[in-house]
Amino acid sequence: MRFLKIAILALFASCLCQCGTPYGVWHKVKRGETLYRISQTYGVPMEKIMKHNPQIKDPTLLIAGDKLFIPGASEVKEVPPPGRQTAGSHEQRGSKPKSHGDAKAQSIPGEKPPRQPSEDSGAEKSLRFLWPARGQITSRFGERRGNRAHKGIDIAAPEGAPIVAAESGQVIFSGKISGYGKVIVIEHASGFVTVYAHNRKNYVKAGEWVERGQRIGEVGKTGRASGPHLHFEIRVNNTPVDPLKYLAKGG
Ligand SMILES: [Zn+2]
Repeated sequence: MRFLKIAILALFASCLCQCGTPYGVWHKVKRGETLYRISQTYGVPMEKIMKHNPQIKDPTLLIAGDKLFIPGASEVKEVPPPGRQTAGSHEQRGSKPKSHGDAKAQSIPGEKPPRQPSEDSGAEKSLRFLWPARGQITSRFGERRGNRAHKGIDIAAPEGAPIVAAESGQVIFSGKISGYGKVIVIEHASGFVTVYAHNRKNYVKAGEWVERGQRIGEVGKTGRASGPHLHFEIRVNNTPVDPLKYLAKGG
C-alpha cells in the first residue's frame, strides 16, 4: 500500500517534469503584499515569478486573493510587512539591518538603515509627500481617458528634468512596464506606494533604499506619452488615490 502510494507519487512527479511544469507552490496574495516582497521572501527573482504568472500585467499592482505560482519554492511562506527583515531570504540587496533593534547589526559604509514604519502613529494623516518634479499639472487624478480613469497626475517638465523620491522608502520596481515606459515604484511606510512613470532614465534599482528628496531619475516620454512629463501615482494598499490630497500645498 505504502509502496503503491510512493509509486503513484513518483509517476505524478515524473509527469509534472515531462509536462514542463516546474516544482513550486501557490502563494495567495494578501492585502498590501508586493511582488518585490514576495520575491524577497521566497528568494525567487521577480522576473522569474512574472514569467510563470503571465496574468500579472502590472507587477506593481497585485490584488489580494490573486494566486501566484512561485517556481522552486517548497512551502508557502508568510510575507513580512515592509521595513522588516524578510525571513528565509539568503541575501538582501537592500540595506536592511539583520534584525532591527540590534545595535550591532552589520552596516555597510555609505548605506543607510531603513526608517522603521511607525505602527499606528497616524502616519497616514500626517504624511506629506514632496513634489516629485517641478512643473504644471496637465492632467489630474480620475480624469477620463478613453474608457479608463487616470490613476495619477501628470506633471509637465522638460526631458531630463530631475525626478525625486516623494518620501523615503524602498524601491520595489525599476524597469519597463507597457504603457508606463520606464517606471520606478517605491514602497513607503503604512502601505503607501509611489509610482514615477515615462522616465528617460532610472537611477535606482529594486531593493535600494532611497531618502525623501533623493534624485531617482529623469523626466522623459517613454511608454504611452505624447510629450515629456512625469506620471505620478500614490497608492494606498494597492489602490490609487488622488496625489494632490497627499502632496504639500503650493508645489
Ligand atoms: Zn498620467
